[in-house]
Amino acid sequence: MNVSDKSVDVVVVGLGAFGSSIAWRLAARGISVFGAEQHTISNSFGSSHGLTRNFRSISQNHTLLYPLALLSRELWFELEGNSSNTLLTQTNALIMGQKDKGLIASALAVVAKYGINPRVLEAADIRRQYPIFGNITDEDIAIVDELGGMLFPEKCVTAAANAATRHGADLQENVEVFGHSLDGSGLVVQTSNGDIRANQIVYATGAWTAELLPRLKLKSLRIPQCWFTYQHDSDATPSLADLPPFQRDLGNVGRLWGHGAAQLGGLTKLGTHGDPTRDRNVYTNNIDRAVHSEDVAHLSKNVAHSFPNVNPVPAKSKICLLTESVDNQFVLGPVGDPRVFVASGGSGQGFKHATGVGEIVADMCQGIKSSIDTGFMHAQRMIEPPNGAAVAQRPTSPIS
Ligand SMILES: Cc1cc2nc3c(=O)[nH]c(=O)nc-3n(C[C@H](O)[C@H](O)[C@H](O)COP(=O)(O)OP(=O)(O)OC[C@H]3O[C@@H](n4cnc5c(N)ncnc54)[C@H](O)[C@@H]3O)c2cc1C
Repeated sequence: MNVSDKSVDVVVVGLGAFGSSIAWRLAARGISVFGAEQHTISNSFGSSHGLTRNFRSISQNHTLLYPLALLSRELWFELEGNSSNTLLTQTNALIMGQKDKGLIASALAVVAKYGINPRVLEAADIRRQYPIFGNITDEDIAIVDELGGMLFPEKCVTAAANAATRHGADLQENVEVFGHSLDGSGLVVQTSNGDIRANQIVYATGAWTAELLPRLKLKSLRIPQCWFTYQHDSDATPSLADLPPFQRDLGNVGRLWGHGAAQLGGLTKLGTHGDPTRDRNVYTNNIDRAVHSEDVAHLSKNVAHSFPNVNPVPAKSKICLLTESVDNQFVLGPVGDPRVFVASGGSGQGFKHATGVGEIVADMCQGIKSSIDTGFMHAQRMIEPPNGAAVAQRPTSPIS
């Protein structure tokens, strides 16, 4: 169907984790939405694929992410209530590392700020309850995030898009948005299926945003997603009971995240970040989708260190894209013109917060002050850094 002569309140460009949730939260408020996805809704070209995503409420990325995680969790369950699939399982999640250092110090700052009282496992408890972990030192502890669990990204994206459609949104697959022009009465959005008039546009274009909105200084990376089996039995793999969703700080060695097999026949998923070989910037029209041995060398080293019973060579792998902002926080809000919004910078942490991001961006489109503090995510900081200072050096991006 050609979209020419169509007119809507908001065009949402890109229907991955962020775009599908934004379309849902806008349409649920009675706002007319047209959503365009250049591939299919739920595809394996962007960032929202790979069967599972870890959910944590206690985030080390920013203390103010805790209220967003709670909002997102509530919305995931609301979405799940209207879907035939499980979207979020509650399994607990482990945050592991040396007492008062790195990941643990950041998690404890969240715990203190919000008066959370999580269970803490000492080194001996970790060794006894989760013998799969190797090289646990006496200094190691694990904070148990009892709201932690796992999301199923393909099902989540489909459920959000279906919910948006049920609320009247017109979401189309295989439609690319080329850009927009502004005139006195609104916007004209150019798509591969004709022009469409709108009052507002939201670019939820994941890794493609770096090229579409270069002022935001976003970076697109290709990251291997990898799945593993046991060392001495390539048909078997650690289960979720052996290995719940976790993040482990290995000090100078790096960080690992992952979880055991989510279901019968599934595999154990493990990943790292800060990998020296992973910082392979991509242009979205020229992505090497093959996983090479140098892409996984650092990960395999960390897996061997942390899981002596796991074969450090991945049994399966697939490239996934990641969009990083210079300060590793989300980039949400108007860019330049008050009718043009962006929702990007999901980095390695965005999926769990996607429904909350949908709600925040819907608030922004309606000019409503969000119930949670969003200042640190506001897109404006990328355009006019405070005091004209150059943006701080890019830290490595934690995943999960
Ligand atoms: C390996 C890896 C592991 C991760 N693990 C976790 C985790 O455990 N927990 C967690 O919370 N997060 C995790 N993340 C991060 C999370 O997956 C991302 O932050 C999130 O999926 C980003 O979603 P998005 O909507 O911004 O991007 P995408 O899902 O890529 O969506 C963008 C969409 O826009 C479409 N598009 C782009 N340009 C156009 C255009 N011009 N016209 C039409 N359509 C367009 C694209 O086709 C795409 O479908 C992980 C990321 C990676 C890479």
